[in-house]
Amino acid sequence: MNTYDLIVIGSGPAGQKAAIQAAKLNKRVAVIEKTKETGGSCVFRGTIPSKTLRENALRIKNMRQNAAIANFELTEDTELATLITRLDDVLKAHDSYLSSQLTRNGIDVIHARAKFLSSTQIEITKVDGEQHTLNTEKVVIASGSFPRKPPNIPIDHEHIFDSDSILSMLYLPKSLTVLGSGVIASEYASIFQALGVKVTMIDKYPAPLGFLDRDLTDRFVHSFEEMGGKWLGEHLVTKVDWNGFDAVVTECEDGTIVKSDKLLCAAGRLANVKDLHLENAGLSLNERGLISVNEQLQTEQKNIYAAGDVIGPPSLASASMEQGRRASCNAFGLKLGEMQQTLPAGIYSIPELSSVGISETQAKEKYGDIIVGRARFEEIARGQISGIQDGMLKIVCDKQGQKVLGVMIIGEGATELIHIGQMALLSHAEVDIFVESIFNFPTLAEAYRVAALGVIEQREKMTKTGSS
Ligand SMILES: Cc1cc2nc3c(=O)[nH]c(=O)nc-3n(C[C@H](O)[C@H](O)[C@H](O)COP(=O)(O)OP(=O)(O)OC[C@H]3O[C@@H](n4cnc5c(N)ncnc54)[C@H](O)[C@@H]3O)c2cc1C
Repeated sequence: MNTYDLIVIGSGPAGQKAAIQAAKLNKRVAVIEKTKETGGSCVFRGTIPSKTLRENALRIKNMRQNAAIANFELTEDTELATLITRLDDVLKAHDSYLSSQLTRNGIDVIHARAKFLSSTQIEITKVDGEQHTLNTEKVVIASGSFPRKPPNIPIDHEHIFDSDSILSMLYLPKSLTVLGSGVIASEYASIFQALGVKVTMIDKYPAPLGFLDRDLTDRFVHSFEEMGGKWLGEHLVTKVDWNGFDAVVTECEDGTIVKSDKLLCAAGRLANVKDLHLENAGLSLNERGLISVNEQLQTEQKNIYAAGDVIGPPSLASASMEQGRRASCNAFGLKLGEMQQTLPAGIYSIPELSSVGISETQAKEKYGDIIVGRARFEEIARGQISGIQDGMLKIVCDKQGQKVLGVMIIGEGATELIHIGQMALLSHAEVDIFVESIFNFPTLAEAYRVAALGVIEQREKMTKTGSS
């Protein structure tokens, strides 16, 4: 019984979908997961816990904004656990749903540490030390990622945290320094700031979330600073230390010193392969510390595939699931179309940010002239009703003002609203579709119509003046 068609290493989003897809192809499948839970870091240390905290941070921010009705302040020494209420319920529900989905599909879920003995043999070690060797035809490595630890940042998980340990803080600190300006850094920085923590975000780049449209990131920084946060761009951190008494001290190259109760280092993530002994399977990591795969998600060993964070960007649960599914389809010869490159980016900061397609800057670089339409949420009925001040939707079109090249949104609901733009891009719809369709009223989706009207107006002006 120790022989499988497919062994999947890791039970995160990539591993689950890889296993279920193979089981649906009537393959004998085992998932090896080293922790006692099922769901990966997505469920236990990443997406779900951070979004649960965010939900309460938003409520608290809204209560503060409504101070005229209720003068709301968090008590001194608020326990972090009280701000992640319902997390246990969410996790238990998720864990039992995922486990039953795997077992329902006849998949063996084995809680053990996996290690390659060869490209077709995997040794598993359970917590009690019991060991077995499993044989397999194919393997999907879906072992995820872990936070990168820069050598000058002494992460102790007590004063200086990484993104896996930040939610293990017992109490809400009074101040927090966040090193980094990527998705995880921006999410946690704005969430803690909304909770009333004095947050300083530091990075060497001029703006956070450099892969996004600059309009969006400028607005994000503005909202963050309006809540009381501080963004220190173009600052190179040289040293971080806990002073042994009352503060974490961060020193920058230009002499800037920032003191805070706690520090979060969010400096990227690396492939989580330390137990795997990849060399036994004839595999190695690339220069970015990740597993390289081809378009089929196949590694340099023909029977071994890899999916999810272990292969690097976009490093999202959403993309990991699809990669996992595709890895299994490819492994067992099921023909697939090309994987969509039009992936939406969703950043659950406060306010939320989302984008699909190309940004205004990228569009200018690629096509020269373009037309951009904008809608501010405070100008549309739903935005006014909900009192949304920092929302904006932007549509980037080709120079004829027809083809949609990208959509960018900032403001609550951005990560849901973006899918309308994504569908327009995927179906190669012209911008007119947003005007010709009737949306519910009053909704934030009406912003698509307003921004599209802006594009059409510019297009018509150009046609009249003959400048297109
Ligand atoms: C703070 C934070 C917030 C995030 N927010 C979002 C978000 O809002 N939206 C989004 O789409 N993504 C988000 N992500 C990213 C998302 O969590 C990851 O992209 C996703 O979890 C990757 O899935 P995976 O299956 O590749 O790996 P993981 O979910 O990391 O799962 C890998 C599993 O492999 C197991 N494993 C590792 N080595 C072994 C071994 N030798 N033997 C057996 N098992 C092993 C691990 O225990 C783990 O359970 C967030 C991440 C973080 C850190």
